[in-house]
Amino acid sequence: MRAALGSDLPEGPSDPVAVIDELVAGSASGIVNIPSGRYFGFVIGGSLPAATAADLLTSVWDQNCGLFAAGPAASVVEEVAGTWLKELLGLPRDCSYAFVTGTQMAHFVALAAARHHLLAQGGWDVESDGLFGSPSIRVIAGAERHVTVDRALRYLGMGTSSLEPVAADDQGRLEISALKDALAARGGPTVVCLQAGNVNSGSVDPIAPAIEVAHEAGAWVHVDGAFGLWAAASPELVHLVEGVGRADSWATDGHKWLNVPYDSGLVFCAHPASHRAAISVHAEYLVHSEGAERDEMDWTPEFSRRARGFTVYAALRSLGRSGVRQMIEHSCAMAQRFATKLAEHPGVEIVNEVVLNQVLVRFSDDNMDAATKTPVVVKLVQEEGTCWLSGSVWQGAPVMRISVSNWSTTEEDVDVSIDSILRAADRASAG
Ligand SMILES: *Cc1c(COP(=O)(O)O)cnc(C)c1O
Repeated sequence: MRAALGSDLPEGPSDPVAVIDELVAGSASGIVNIPSGRYFGFVIGGSLPAATAADLLTSVWDQNCGLFAAGPAASVVEEVAGTWLKELLGLPRDCSYAFVTGTQMAHFVALAAARHHLLAQGGWDVESDGLFGSPSIRVIAGAERHVTVDRALRYLGMGTSSLEPVAADDQGRLEISALKDALAARGGPTVVCLQAGNVNSGSVDPIAPAIEVAHEAGAWVHVDGAFGLWAAASPELVHLVEGVGRADSWATDGHKWLNVPYDSGLVFCAHPASHRAAISVHAEYLVHSEGAERDEMDWTPEFSRRARGFTVYAALRSLGRSGVRQMIEHSCAMAQRFATKLAEHPGVEIVNEVVLNQVLVRFSDDNMDAATKTPVVVKLVQEEGTCWLSGSVWQGAPVMRISVSNWSTTEEDVDVSIDSILRAADRASAG
């Protein structure tokens, strides 16, 4: 690819069509087939047809959606999609929202709002005075939290040492007794970060009791629901995230389970004034809206940015409530299919409780233990190319990690992938 694509910076212009042809040809060997229904890597999702089309339009329209004045349609579409999302995900009607790049930045915005809120309660103006000399904020999160929580704390000047990890159980769920102990140990401004959807096991923290004890202690509760928050869109799965609407802030992705193209993270906040105080910006040369119109830059950390609402709007409009529900439930059913069928074979162990769309698998036989065999099987599956999935480490030992999050995955995709995995397991045994 470097040979095909790389050259000295051209001195002059080239024909645009030729440039695109060359880009396509030169990239071909390095384009991952993520839109495929047989891509089970990470928790990635594909893109719905309406969302892909809206994404192309977003580029063609080229709206700068920081301000209402620079893209009124973008602003209104985000408003509509934001309202729909709150309803689908069971969040308070009056919470604020913003369209960001991904859950990483959704954490950043939510925790900036939390930082503002908690410090303002103690009379500290963090927006003007920063954190030098401020009261410290403790952040309590499960030991199996996602790394993006830690990174958001770095960006916010709170540092990873503000984190106090509490024990998680064998599925990766924060233990409520450990949370209670941590809260009781000392007071002061506190954030509790909960997780809906562990990136390996798919497990969900005990949301309702955790919010209750955290709120009793006066803490702000943030929920990392990058993919797991979508359980709220299904009557069959909503029990997993029961009570989640009582948290103070939420982060999730459009680009994972909602199946819209990349650059789609979503943040919601039950304290709009704190969200806005932490994020908004004003400059004399800008045309700020004075009425009910929404200037998006008051809610997102970016100034200029892509009009991210169009894809989300198109996905939600094309699926409707029942379509979102079916897509989420279908992924979970396909994950169950993987787990049930793989478990029928000797030497195959399903490691997690398959509560959502994630399946963790280990392989062993008489001659090879799971720690040795599992990574070999993952590698052989990748080499064969029927499907793609990756390995991970769960509770200190290697696993195969299957994530079903693409709208287009069929039973047949799952079955041929299972065959491929079992062939790989046989080949690994044969050496
Ligand atoms: C993917 C993921 C993130 C990060 O989301 P991005 O959209 O990649 O920023 C955070 N938390 C969990 C649980 C995730 O699965």
